[in-house]
Amino acid sequence: MASRCWRWWGLSAWPRTRLPPAGSTPSFRHHFSTQEKTPQICVVGSGPAGFYTAQHLLKQHPQAHVDIYEKQPVPFGLVRFGVAPDHPEVKSYGAEDHRALEIPGEELPGVFSARAFVGWYNGLPENQELEPDLSCDTAVILGQGNVALDVARILLTPPEHLEALLLCQRTDITKAALGVLRQSRVKTVWLVGRRGPLQVAFTIKELREMIQLPGARPILDPADFLGLQDKIKEVPRPRKRLTELLFRTATEKPGPEEAVRQASASRAWGLRFFRSPQQVLPSPDGRRAAGVRLAVTRLEGVDEATRAVPTGDIEDLPCGLVLSSIGYKSRPVDPSVPFDSKLGVIPNVEGRVMDVPGLYCSGWVKRGPTGVIATTMTDSFLTGQMLLQDLKAGLLPSGPRPGYAAIQALLSSRGVQPVSFSDWEKLDAEEVARGQGTGKPREKLVDPQEMLRLLGH
Ligand code: NAP
Repeated sequence: MASRCWRWWGLSAWPRTRLPPAGSTPSFRHHFSTQEKTPQICVVGSGPAGFYTAQHLLKQHPQAHVDIYEKQPVPFGLVRFGVAPDHPEVKSYGAEDHRALEIPGEELPGVFSARAFVGWYNGLPENQELEPDLSCDTAVILGQGNVALDVARILLTPPEHLEALLLCQRTDITKAALGVLRQSRVKTVWLVGRRGPLQVAFTIKELREMIQLPGARPILDPADFLGLQDKIKEVPRPRKRLTELLFRTATEKPGPEEAVRQASASRAWGLRFFRSPQQVLPSPDGRRAAGVRLAVTRLEGVDEATRAVPTGDIEDLPCGLVLSSIGYKSRPVDPSVPFDSKLGVIPNVEGRVMDVPGLYCSGWVKRGPTGVIATTMTDSFLTGQMLLQDLKAGLLPSGPRPGYAAIQALLSSRGVQPVSFSDWEKLDAEEVARGQGTGKPREKLVDPQEMLRLLGH
């Protein structure tokens, strides 16, 4: 990066705003010029999509000047706050919200979005007050995607195993979350899907890890897999391998070693299929969640169009903790930026924002909340490519623009002192130093005020 020019600014002190301050985007855009020689480009959001887009732009156009803005005082978005803390190998403008269940009882204490729960154990400042009560025996996770499996795994991993991960620097889970998980009494986690085994949204690696989770055994009902063997043959290979693994786990007798392991397991996780959430049931005093009412479903349609339709039967599943994991959702950035609130994306063609020349999007806000970090990388490179193509074709705003100077003046007029990338490097060093005492790769700072104090702001 030495010869290339980029800067990162954390704007934690922008009060009560998303990115950038409401109503300011048009002028914000006008501060940036994309003259072909030294284009000035502003990237909003420093998650994988933001960084990969910036990387592509700088690689392909070394004279470009890229400023990356972020509302958190620390960079890296989902890589820091979303990826499971026991999956450091995955750490290579995301979706800031979760999709609501829109069922009665969703607001009861004891119900959390998986997004908030993940943010809590990953040190996202806004989720540090979550204080999940893990004194119950059973947790229900609604949804059967990779986030649901991540959360189930963190809930069921034996504390001594998490501590072992700490010793070999394989987790950066926060101290506070680890303390709560150590005291957890959760023994059973149900992952509830409205469709069947052929439609699960998680992937084989994550499933395998769950099946092998120390101290935990799987609970699968062989009846859910009746007649599936013939259908498995017809599905594409990755889905076929995934379903075969599920099928074997549900229907085959475990070998002697596995049988001993399962018999001694004190915790369990199960997949409940063909169940759609209808209501979160309150405890008798109405003060917290005590279960989930599920509509039994059957499937209609074929392939991609397979839908779950209620049969009319219902079933209550008692639990003390409900985590809704039915997908993430992006929020609108600013009223001036088009936004499809139904799909949770900015309408775009290959990253070019519809009807707004000079504005591009990448990541989950471009294509919806699906795909792994590698998917976001490819997709961000494509957005970068579109921008550079438009630049070359002379389709972008040109002429001298003040760029960061104008933003700096705006921030200063609002009393905001941004965190620079070199500031972040100081915070990074502090986190790493604090982690050394406990054997962790880092002990994340979770309080923005403390971060600003450490920087002398
Ligand atoms: P997801 O993969 O879209 O899964 C969402 C789950 O919620 C599906 O089982 C879906 O069922 C269910 N669902 C949606 N709406 C529902 C409703 N109204 N009622 C009941 N169930 C509903 O979302 P995600 O788990 O949040 O993951 C997001 C993306 O990040 C995915 O692409 C995922 O692979 C990726 N990710 C990857 C990793 C990893 O690589 N280790 C880790 C975490 C996340 P239907 O299919 O019936 O809609």
